[in-house]
Amino acid sequence: MEKDLGKQIMEARESYRNGNTKPISWRRSQLQALKSFLLHYEVQIFRALNLDLGKHYVEAFRDEVGLLKKSVNLALENLNRWNASTKAKLPIIALLSYAELVPEPLGLILVISSWNFPLGLSLEPLIGAIAAGNAVVLKPSEMAPACSSLLANTLPKYLDNQAIKVIEGGPTVGQQLLQQKWDKIFFTGSPKVGRMIMSEAAKNLTPVTLELGGKCPAVLDSLSWSWDKEVAIKRIIGAKYGSCAGQACISIDYVLVEKSFSSTAVELMKAIIRTMYGDNPRESHSVARIVNKHHFLRLKNILTDQKVKDCIVYGGSMDEDSLYMEPTILVDPPLESAIMTEEIFGPLLPIITLDKIEDGIDFINSRPKPLAIYVFTKNEVLRKRIVSETSSGSVVFNDAIIQFAADTIPFGGIGESGMGKYHGKFSFDTFTHYKAVVRRSFLTDFWYRFPPWNNHKMEL
Ligand code: NAD
Repeated sequence: MEKDLGKQIMEARESYRNGNTKPISWRRSQLQALKSFLLHYEVQIFRALNLDLGKHYVEAFRDEVGLLKKSVNLALENLNRWNASTKAKLPIIALLSYAELVPEPLGLILVISSWNFPLGLSLEPLIGAIAAGNAVVLKPSEMAPACSSLLANTLPKYLDNQAIKVIEGGPTVGQQLLQQKWDKIFFTGSPKVGRMIMSEAAKNLTPVTLELGGKCPAVLDSLSWSWDKEVAIKRIIGAKYGSCAGQACISIDYVLVEKSFSSTAVELMKAIIRTMYGDNPRESHSVARIVNKHHFLRLKNILTDQKVKDCIVYGGSMDEDSLYMEPTILVDPPLESAIMTEEIFGPLLPIITLDKIEDGIDFINSRPKPLAIYVFTKNEVLRKRIVSETSSGSVVFNDAIIQFAADTIPFGGIGESGMGKYHGKFSFDTFTHYKAVVRRSFLTDFWYRFPPWNNHKMEL
């Protein structure tokens, strides 16, 4: 296994060294091929996402296939522009000179991805890496086996299988891959494994992008108009339960509300859950399943703490055989319990009540920097304070999760939620080195450029 792994990596590296991946024509053909794969295999992709995660095909299209098609089209449209050199000004000391930034591929890239958006999180970085002219080894997550095998078995039929490899496996294969030398590692996963990746990468001074997780808060202000309340809560419920059943890095982890508004908010949440998933969500096709038994038991375990269980105001039912967990709401679980100290990554939604909504700023700042902060408010002062007084990968006002679909803004974390960014042109930049190229004329130099600097000149 290890020998084969080494051979595959060597092939990919050779392909890069031979210059195969650099021509724009190669990049264009690979992106076109990826587009064809998404088109031809759409139904199989939906099936695989349903098998691995119970995702409805509309959700699968919205969150993965549709976004990927958009990204691949964007890269194709902008390939020439992104790859063009840009001129730069030089200081006067470099008289009669010319400078430019020349985009250069990094080389051989390792992409290790996660299971919750197994297609999106594998192919989105791949699009950026190809557009930038790199060779790539992709290791999808073993926890979404149908998607991983679909990628491993079909991508080589579409893409240049010398330069782009899909290697299946779990942590052991991941560790073996990390022993190799890479020009960049792009990792999506937990902060725990992210730390390991970074320390292995440091041995070769390999740059890393770490797309990690954490607890993303939503601050729900006491909105006075019933329309605003309903829209806000619909968006909160949709973002929490309607995107892989809360198993998303940018899912809402918990909601902060003022005490006086909490019962109104909870009643509205219950009503909206019923509208979206019916009286018995277990029968709804729109509720994704927990990825596997390990994660099911992890979530179940959170609720076995009696002090936490007592806080359930809605839901709480589950079925281990079908890995179903009901959309669940809790009010004020103990702040030191696992539900409030660990990333939930599932359909449990704690509501934390505060005396004043502004206290939410200190609440957020006393915890690790999140990937996203969502704030539902019409209060301009609160809006400004959130932007200037908190730190997170992104801030979204009056919605959640939509930032992931935008290719004009960077996607990535800060601090514990990660480092580096991608999506759209940011993906291209993540896999590109902007080489500074300077050219001067032989004609002239300022007199003070070179010694000897004698006193006579000093006096002048
Ligand atoms: P994980 O860290 O367990 O695994 C991620 C990947 O790393 C998988 O491919 C896995 O096989 C591999 N891996 C695991 N152990 C390894 C090791 N010792 N050496 C090398 N590779 C190893 O995370 P997960 O369970 O797949 O995903 C859940 C986490 O990912 C959550 O924290 C979530 O917030 C985060 N996440 C972040 C984003 C983002 O874009 N920021 C997206 C999805 C998930």
